[in-house]
Amino acid sequence: MGIEKLLIANRGEIALRIHRACHEMGIRTVAVHSTADADAMHVRLADEAICIGPPAAKDSYLNVAAIISAAEISGADAIHPGYGFLSENAKFAEIVEAHGIAFVGPKPEHIRTMGDKIEAKRTAGALGLPLVPGSDGAVSDLEEAKAIAETAGYPVIIKAASGGGGRGMKVCTSPDQLETLMQQAGSEAKAAFGDATVYIEKYLGNPRHIEIQVFGDGNGNAIHLGERDCSLQRRHQKVLEEAPSPVLSSAERERIGSTCAKAMADMGYRGAGTIEFLWENGEFYFIEMNTRLQVEHPVTEMITGLDLVREQIRVAEGKPLSVRQEDIRFTGHAIECRINAEDPKTFAPSPGTVTSYHVPGGMHVRVDSGLYQGYKVPPYYDSMIGKLIVYGRTREGAIMRLRRALEEYVIEGMKTTIPLHQALLTDPDFLNGDYTIKWLEEWLAREDAA
Ligand code: ADP
Repeated sequence: MGIEKLLIANRGEIALRIHRACHEMGIRTVAVHSTADADAMHVRLADEAICIGPPAAKDSYLNVAAIISAAEISGADAIHPGYGFLSENAKFAEIVEAHGIAFVGPKPEHIRTMGDKIEAKRTAGALGLPLVPGSDGAVSDLEEAKAIAETAGYPVIIKAASGGGGRGMKVCTSPDQLETLMQQAGSEAKAAFGDATVYIEKYLGNPRHIEIQVFGDGNGNAIHLGERDCSLQRRHQKVLEEAPSPVLSSAERERIGSTCAKAMADMGYRGAGTIEFLWENGEFYFIEMNTRLQVEHPVTEMITGLDLVREQIRVAEGKPLSVRQEDIRFTGHAIECRINAEDPKTFAPSPGTVTSYHVPGGMHVRVDSGLYQGYKVPPYYDSMIGKLIVYGRTREGAIMRLRRALEEYVIEGMKTTIPLHQALLTDPDFLNGDYTIKWLEEWLAREDAA
């Protein structure tokens, strides 16, 4: 089936990203937006726009009935959920499909499986992905917990089965803390996610976060598009991402990549997905799978030359993947900086009106952002206002280009994290590619003390 009109169930830079892919494919777009986003760039550019509710996300971008009505009224034959909001809501995907509308995303059952962390881990293990040692499923009994922790070795981490966003986790360093921390983790998980189920795994001391981009056609064919290194994080939020990872050899990439691609083929996975691993001392440990497009997908696009949103839409149309594994070449190096409307030192949100604006350009520079002069950043949503992505033939070349591009970038009217990125890009550890998921927080603490 050919998609002719696609509804974008999202906002901000990703809504614009999807709109652009659609227009390049000759597909008309429908923007849905809250009252706070009436002046958003993607709303202005879309062929049609429908207001679906007040600013609060629960009344607009998470309002399933309003979004389905908008699709019916506009005659959209597909919905792209972007990332966040309803993108990993299996029920939403089912409702969309029940209305005869194509869901640009995985099959609902795969969203559901991967959304439950225990089920995800069990599935990943059965598909041959390397796991963090720990419990085989939920743990409620203290004696059982002690035995598992003993086998895995302390420290261990107690995690909520329904957790997300880096919440609902407790690190336990010795057997005498186990009972208290199990209880705390359970009651916090119950309060935050309505589910007290917890499980245990070995706590890795100082890993990197390395994730593999996968793509399936839903009919048993799947490929991988290499890795992204997203170890630069603050409070489990990614700040800067790069591809390839400074620590992987092509043999290692090929090994983990083909394991992931085979797992997705066996599963019959459809569309884009990301398999997230912690990586320590040369070993990969599965932590979760995201069944959607990721914020950092452009770095993969830059080193492969593939348009991932176009590929998602093709798969949703029932077409085969446009490339075979052997056609994919990884060339050069790409880095993405997430630009947030935040104080670069305290990270306090700083929404405001863009009073002066200039985006960098030139060779191999990409800016994904809905900002424009005079645009008022609403205070109701995520503080990310744009992404700057550059490509270079080498990592050093990409870093020099990124520094040059950040120098040109002007966003006035609010504080942004541009100065943070500028500082990071001159740090010797970063230049050496020598950083783990703990590095940025330690660096920030040192900056604070200085
Ligand atoms: P969420 O869905 O809440 O993001 P994840 O399972 O992806 O949860 O874990 C979030 C982060 O928590 C990881 O990126 C890592 O920093 C840390 N983490 C999770 N599991 C472990 C572990 N076994 N050892 C060390 N750190 C971990």
